[in-house]
Amino acid sequence: MNKKISVAFATAELTPIAKVGGLADVAGALPPVLKELGVDIRVILPKYSVIDDAKYPSKKIAEDILVEVNGRTEKISVFEMAIPNTKVTIYLIDNKDYLGENGIYFAPTAFADSLGEVHRFLFFSQAIVQLFRALDWYPDILHCQDWHVGILPGLLNLAEAEEPRLKKIASLFTIHNLANQGAWKKEDILSFLGLKESNLPSLSADPKNVNLIQQGILNADLINTVSRTYAKEILTPEYGEGLETELQGRRDDLSGIVNGIDQARFDPAKDPDIAVHFNLETIQDKKKNKAALQEACGLPVDGATPVFGIVSRLTDQKGIEHVAASAATIAKRGGQLILLGTGAKNFEEMMTEAQKQFPTSVSAHLKFDAALAQQIYAGSDFFLMPSRFEPCGLGQMIAMRYGTIPIVRATGGLKDTVTDASQSEGNGFVFEPYTSEALNEAINRAFDLYNDNPEAWLSLIKQAMIYDSSWSTAAEEYVRLYEKLLK
Ligand code: ADP
Repeated sequence: MNKKISVAFATAELTPIAKVGGLADVAGALPPVLKELGVDIRVILPKYSVIDDAKYPSKKIAEDILVEVNGRTEKISVFEMAIPNTKVTIYLIDNKDYLGENGIYFAPTAFADSLGEVHRFLFFSQAIVQLFRALDWYPDILHCQDWHVGILPGLLNLAEAEEPRLKKIASLFTIHNLANQGAWKKEDILSFLGLKESNLPSLSADPKNVNLIQQGILNADLINTVSRTYAKEILTPEYGEGLETELQGRRDDLSGIVNGIDQARFDPAKDPDIAVHFNLETIQDKKKNKAALQEACGLPVDGATPVFGIVSRLTDQKGIEHVAASAATIAKRGGQLILLGTGAKNFEEMMTEAQKQFPTSVSAHLKFDAALAQQIYAGSDFFLMPSRFEPCGLGQMIAMRYGTIPIVRATGGLKDTVTDASQSEGNGFVFEPYTSEALNEAINRAFDLYNDNPEAWLSLIKQAMIYDSSWSTAAEEYVRLYEKLLK
């Protein structure tokens, strides 16, 4: 890179200081790698009161910055800290009323289902424009994550005429999950921001609402999402969540970059949560983790029994009905199924029912438990992800790091990261139709290989463990996108 590119990375979450889901992991891991590649990247995050000040101290660097919202003038302060163990600056925007209370989102997941939550992120977006002015920091690129800051590229475009330094900022909008859109009543959003209908493009598609992810898609200079396959899928009605027309209109500006995982954190040689550490040279010790897992789950302890694990939110997206249906196949063929997840009641009931029906083969843990998750990644032989859609997916990459063979549906990032065992570079099992039959068929293929071909089985494990899920490839692709934006 010739000239140092400066980037403002706007996000609603960041691991480890403010985490709800996968967005936090990306925000915590990608900027440090970009910094190492020479990008002057700084993260902007709300200063939620759930951020532990004692654990993550920050320093006030600016105060009494004025932000106009809801027909009134509010004030923000800016605090500064670094992403822990890195040199990446975080600017925390502080305003108790809008950004402080009610956790990160107003509900367990962020679906913009309350006016307070929509106001929170509109306020955050307005405040970011003011932060640039107050700190006199005008980055080359504003990199916005998901619907929370979908309005920001549009706000920059509106500010353009009066301020050439804002005009020069190019914008990149990254879609982490198109299913969460942030749509809310038009009148509420326009009056909060002090805008007229004519200020925002394409409200006509949905005359009642402003859809914040749609605004990001329409207004950003470039758009990307978190895998190559998802970038193509979202152009279709099946995956486009009603925004396929807008996305098709921007097809030439849309690309896919597959996420990485934090390889230092997900390392079977160091993971503090697993029974026995192992690596490529000591794969046989993986069996000890299987025994510990079987014991912890109250299942018969037997090294020869293939264990199928799954760690997942229990939602419509994840194919849980197919997992429940596969319990009979797994039990009949002498395997074990261990699930960890919480979510929709109907899926929880399905798994409870499967456990009742096959008590010595199925173990369902309906809770959030980070340590048990790691024990499942380390102790299982196979990891199930039969998702209906999957923008990228982390579970399959974590499983592979632990030599656990993913069984996945060919969608989104699952398709980009897992290659079927029938191919020479195979590291998993891949199936196409979103049906219980197709999942069962893949599970049967997995049983066959596991039972009949120990050599091929071992080489599959090795292929999975050497899969490169580091952030470096993704970060280089982001740098190329940034460079494209500078032209
Ligand atoms: P998504 O972001 O759609 O939930 P991903 O596969 O990208 O799916 O990431 C899910 C992450 O959350 C993984 O790291 C997984 O281990 C973790 N996870 C999901 N459910 C649980 C749970 N019940 N307990 C612990 N970790 C969980």
